[in-house]
Amino acid sequence: MDLRLRDRTVLVTGASSGVGLATARMLLAEGANVAACARDAERLDATLRAAQADTEAPGRIHAVSADVTDAAAMGSFVDSAVQAFGGIDGVVCNAGRSLMATIDETTDDQIREEFELKLFGVLNIVRAAAKHLAASEVASVVAVNAILARQPEAKLAITSAARAGLLNLTQTLSHSLGADGIRVNSVLLGLVDTGQWTRRYESSGSDLDYAEWTGRLAADRGIVLGRLGTAEEVAFPIVSLLSPLSGYTTGACIDVGGGVARYV
Ligand code: NDP
Repeated sequence: MDLRLRDRTVLVTGASSGVGLATARMLLAEGANVAACARDAERLDATLRAAQADTEAPGRIHAVSADVTDAAAMGSFVDSAVQAFGGIDGVVCNAGRSLMATIDETTDDQIREEFELKLFGVLNIVRAAAKHLAASEVASVVAVNAILARQPEAKLAITSAARAGLLNLTQTLSHSLGADGIRVNSVLLGLVDTGQWTRRYESSGSDLDYAEWTGRLAADRGIVLGRLGTAEEVAFPIVSLLSPLSGYTTGACIDVGGGVARYV
């Protein structure tokens, strides 16, 4: 199936690992140009070079080391992508992490940082890209969010609250940008097997091997499908929301949680 993304340009934040990297790879395979950012330039270069080789997409990648919480850096990232490819048709706001802590375990500075990352991590890039997106007839923004936005967890208290704020903000953006033909949607993740979970496994000191550890995690969290998701299983809904074939979908959320959500 042709998703009609060939020669379109999509910005992906946090593209050096996990969901962002899988999304970049899928876009390249669809013939799109990918402008990618993350903070660690070396890792970004190495992973995207491999993606470029695998997908035979020379010249279709533009990689920039930048922090999504830095508005000026997002402005420069957007400008350089427009210079490289001539315009912007999509933005995937993916960069981030979560803070595994209860309210009592979290300092006020950590709370501010978490809200800054979740809200400005999306606002900075969307504000910088908006006028370029408005010039595209297929403009689409996808915010990578979490089921925590609707189903908070005590052990991820501040991340859950910040995720809820982001979901609310994304809905407002879908209204304010819709007048310029820019669609804005969210993908709400459950537990996805990426760097976030390998790092937690490594610091857990568990005697179990990784497969057993994630299996137990899935059982403890009540994931209906009995396993964590893969980055590719998240990349596909993201890429399909970017596709003009989803042209009438805006202000929507897609859950990708293997059945972990308990709400109706
Ligand atoms: P990974 O840790 O595998 O990748 C995170 C990516 O974001 C890396 O490229 C990282 O690169 C980049 N990044 C992190 N902070 C910043 C920043 N401030 N500015 C620019 N880039 C940044 O994570 P996942 O793929 O698992 O997560 C992707 C998104 O999905 C995140 O927003 C995460 O919170 C969310 N999510 C993930 C879940 C999961 O189970 N995996 C569950 C729910 C939500 P670098 O460090 O070099 O900047």
